[in-house]
Amino acid sequence: MSEPKVRLYVEQSLGAGQAIALGPEQSHYLFSVMRLAVGAEVALFNGRDGEWRAQVEAAGKRGGIARCADQSRPQRLPPDLWLLFAPIKKARTDFIVEKAVEMGSARIQPVQTRHTNSERIRQDRLQAHAVEAAEQCEATFVPPVADLIALDRLLANWPQDRRILWADETQTSARTTLQAQERGGKWAILIGPEGGFSQDEQTRLRAMVQVVPVSLGPRILRADTAAVAALTLWQATLGDWV
Ligand code: SAM
Repeated sequence: MSEPKVRLYVEQSLGAGQAIALGPEQSHYLFSVMRLAVGAEVALFNGRDGEWRAQVEAAGKRGGIARCADQSRPQRLPPDLWLLFAPIKKARTDFIVEKAVEMGSARIQPVQTRHTNSERIRQDRLQAHAVEAAEQCEATFVPPVADLIALDRLLANWPQDRRILWADETQTSARTTLQAQERGGKWAILIGPEGGFSQDEQTRLRAMVQVVPVSLGPRILRADTAAVAALTLWQATLGDWV
């Protein structure tokens, strides 16, 4: 049986024979945009139950029904890796969220640092962006996008057992540092704002035993480039790409 071409994220639980009611937006996407009709197949996932092949049983402008047949992909979780980043301009913040999903993150945490130039974020909009990225990259898990939090507050209660790959442009060696780290365990990646980390923030990070300062090379990367570079370095050295 060929793989359904269309993937759709739903909130409901998925299982053999389960009928899934589709809302107006989902119906618009499936039946108007993708032009599916009754009898067509669609791949459904909810971030918990893996991906399920489902058949359209009712297709209308305002709603529809798809019934789960069999599981087409088991639930697969990314490594326990959080991405902490200082929001930048809207489009590039969207880009960071999208890449974090595609490259494998368990949680996306926007942080407010001293030099962060965005006062607030639209958490609901970023979460919708994460869902779209998961639909596109065939992931079965959607990382939660948390609300903006001050870096100081986040670090004040930082868990003892979660290491932080701190993208620190003042560092010189990258690979030796990470390669020396034990695989597995809980991690986070921290990317600063366009204006970099303040002196106080750097002092605080250097004093934390969980922090592993890492260089991303001899050039200064834009924050969105640094997020992709750090995710690549971590996944290729300690993550699920190896
Ligand atoms: N402080 C930088 C400067 O001197 O212009 C600007 C910060 S950079 C645009 C944004 C963030 O990307 C940094 O805070 C750091 O987390 C990360 N970053 C950029 N280049 C890096 C590098 N070569 N090594 C490690 N991290 C880097």
